[in-house]
Amino acid sequence: MPLSLTPGVLSELRRIVEDRGLITAPNQLQTYECDGLTAFRVPPAAVLLPESTEQVQSILRLCHRERIPFVARGAGTGLSGGALPADGSIVIALSRMNRILNIDIPNQQVTVQPGVINANVTAAVAPQEYFYAPDPSSQTVCSIGGNIAENAGGAHCLKYGFTVTHVLEMTVVLPDGEVVTLGSKVPDAPGYDLAGVFIGSEGTLGVATEMTLRIMRKPETVQVILAAFDSITAAAQSVSDVIANGQLPAAMEIMDRLSIEAAEISVHPNYPLCEALLLIELDGPQAEVDLQMATVIDICKKNGAWETRLAVDENARFLVWKGRKAAFAAAGRLSPNYIVQDGVIPRTSLPAVLEKLNAMAAAENLRVTNVFHAGDGNLHPIVLYNRDNPGEEERAIDLSLRILDVCVEAGGSITGEHGVGREKQCSMSYMYSDPDLETMQRVRRAFDPLNLSNPEKLFPTPRICGERSRGAYAPHPIEASGIAEVF
Ligand SMILES: Cc1cc2nc3c(=O)[nH]c(=O)nc-3n(C[C@H](O)[C@H](O)[C@H](O)COP(=O)(O)OP(=O)(O)OC[C@H]3O[C@@H](n4cnc5c(N)ncnc54)[C@H](O)[C@@H]3O)c2cc1C
Repeated sequence: MPLSLTPGVLSELRRIVEDRGLITAPNQLQTYECDGLTAFRVPPAAVLLPESTEQVQSILRLCHRERIPFVARGAGTGLSGGALPADGSIVIALSRMNRILNIDIPNQQVTVQPGVINANVTAAVAPQEYFYAPDPSSQTVCSIGGNIAENAGGAHCLKYGFTVTHVLEMTVVLPDGEVVTLGSKVPDAPGYDLAGVFIGSEGTLGVATEMTLRIMRKPETVQVILAAFDSITAAAQSVSDVIANGQLPAAMEIMDRLSIEAAEISVHPNYPLCEALLLIELDGPQAEVDLQMATVIDICKKNGAWETRLAVDENARFLVWKGRKAAFAAAGRLSPNYIVQDGVIPRTSLPAVLEKLNAMAAAENLRVTNVFHAGDGNLHPIVLYNRDNPGEEERAIDLSLRILDVCVEAGGSITGEHGVGREKQCSMSYMYSDPDLETMQRVRRAFDPLNLSNPEKLFPTPRICGERSRGAYAPHPIEASGIAEVF
């Protein structure tokens, strides 16, 4: 049960957002008790739906005065429990702050509120031949505020970079209610890159209420190649070889046979039926794309591609991406339950790691389907299971966590884009040493000394993870040599 707010606090909150901006009815609060990671659920004490920076500021001032924890929420599509309420917290849902405030084509900028849906940014500038590059597969439903908090990526971030590359300036309400501007509309402002610190901080440093985004000119030509392989190893090797050859496609995505079958049932993209499908998008000036295409097809064929098909026109390309972007949801066609994992490995390790993951899945007698941003080495193994089979859920969770261990051991990371949230906070100590984590905590405390902004996320805590001492502190070689110091 949520810790309740006092009648006095509730009436102050009501004064700020009026009746239509305050939710307290238990059945309505249920909508906000989890995000896309439905295994974790905590009912919030109340939900606030502010409509302006001033309202967010008043809410945070009150939270600061009364020591009430708060959790910002965009569209709730997060997959790591980032928008999960904390015990006794309120949720600040930004869905009503959904206006595009300014479109500045000459300066290639758009200013929006945090609740604007990602795909609506591109829709607003497409008539002028511009687009907003970060394109998470959830882009038709997720919000820009959530994208900033998670530093969201997507298929085209291989060439264009993650969200952090595309946010110029933000208005942020700090946890004590102070309103600050982070970043700048002109490039390379002097001083600390505090916008860079905020982006990817998963709602732990305050609430972003306005942001100016970089938009890009649509490329002259776009081509999508579908390359069919007999093994995922061969497809992965092609990805490595394409990049090693000096090519930079806009996107390189791999889907295995199970995901192809699921996408086919779900949205009929008409993919070649194969063990591994490599989708490669090339964009730029026509002459450059023609040249790149010949090289890329040649590399795929050398690695055993038995079909290299071009999506013939814009409709065909749309269908190709629709199939890829529907892949997580389509996993529901394969199995009653599944866990979407998100880890990163060096691109060159793709073939070896994928073989290892297949062996691990076989040993557990579980099916794992793979669909991922191969160009970035960002894996999304989807562990399929049936909760009704005794013990299967536990084995699936255990396998999905061991997959992360394999990523870290290969020199990668426990998350590429879905964030740490509530789900992976205990894995943070697998990746970072205690001094690393303490340094991050100091940054957090500089913004939020009272730990009110999305508490109990991102960092391992004794309550959630147990005491996990790494033993006696051993200085890093560069610290021992006096080049760096731990403070
Ligand atoms: C089918 C599917 C496909 C997906 N594909 C991708 C993908 O390709 N790439 C990818 O990166 N992610 C993907 N995701 C995950 C998710 O969509 C992204 O993490 C997205 O950025 C979350 O946005 P949201 O608006 O839903 O945020 P929420 O889930 O509501 O919140 C996410 C985090 O952001 C914080 N937050 C929200 N708004 C603000 C704000 N204004 N200020 C401060 N903090 C805030 C919350 O506290 C929380 O910690 C996918 C999810 C699904 C369900």
